[in-house]
Amino acid sequence: MTAHQQLKQALLAGKLAHAYLLVGGSEEGRRAEAIYLATALNCRYLQGGEPCGSCHSCRQMAGGNHPDFYLLEPRGTNLKIAQIRELEARLALQAFQGGVKVAVLAGADTMTEAAANCLLKTLEEPPEGTYLILLAAQPDPLLPTIRSRCQEIHLEGAMAISQAGTGYWARLVAADLPVIMEEILPELEKEADLPAVLTGMALACRDQLVWQLTGSATLLLKPGEPPTPFLAPSRLWACFWTIQDTLAALEHNANHRLALEVMMFKLYTQFSGEAIHGGEPSPA
Ligand SMILES: [Zn+2]
Repeated sequence: MTAHQQLKQALLAGKLAHAYLLVGGSEEGRRAEAIYLATALNCRYLQGGEPCGSCHSCRQMAGGNHPDFYLLEPRGTNLKIAQIRELEARLALQAFQGGVKVAVLAGADTMTEAAANCLLKTLEEPPEGTYLILLAAQPDPLLPTIRSRCQEIHLEGAMAISQAGTGYWARLVAADLPVIMEEILPELEKEADLPAVLTGMALACRDQLVWQLTGSATLLLKPGEPPTPFLAPSRLWACFWTIQDTLAALEHNANHRLALEVMMFKLYTQFSGEAIHGGEPSPA
């Protein structure tokens, strides 16, 4: 079972732990799962364990401005005790929107010992309605006392997935319909792990949307160059859901060729609309 399936199953069964440690895979893969869980936990209209993407909470998550979501990143080379203390002060408050509070600690393996010891107290007795998600490339640098208080989930091979999907996405947005249908589609159809590639495409699309809405590079799952070219956010949303629908169709054993053709036509309809060109994100 993949990390995503494990989290989804626990969510649907109402058996989520209050602290998770996501290890392995790629940085973007770990972040994607953490953001999935955070979004799903506060989504008002969860659909089969997946966030609806359109409720107030989902839109705030996509826009990077959900008041009950905290993302901690290493300052310099470490996650520092001051950051943990600040987080604890915030988590002690009631959730602003009546849902749950979710904190993601990226680079948990860079915590100083003081920071880790400080975090232990919160892990032992998390404030009500609080979920902590620690992300680490390797679990080994973490204190055993931290590890033993988290449910550990291992990601595999996420780097390859994301890169292939990102590559297809970049080619698709720049291609015209004959190229899409005659070159890209047959290539995509031959991918051994099609769902993984489509997931990578969806994540690349998501990054473009987040960049458009926030202009914040720190919220991108694939840090580095801001994604270009820009499509209007409503078109990116449509693309994102088109890819998700295709994934769902494939899961239900739809004909691959047909499902991919429908996806390509729908994506092209969005790409060929009014694209916003230029190097700056449009105002949210
Ligand atoms: Zn929602």
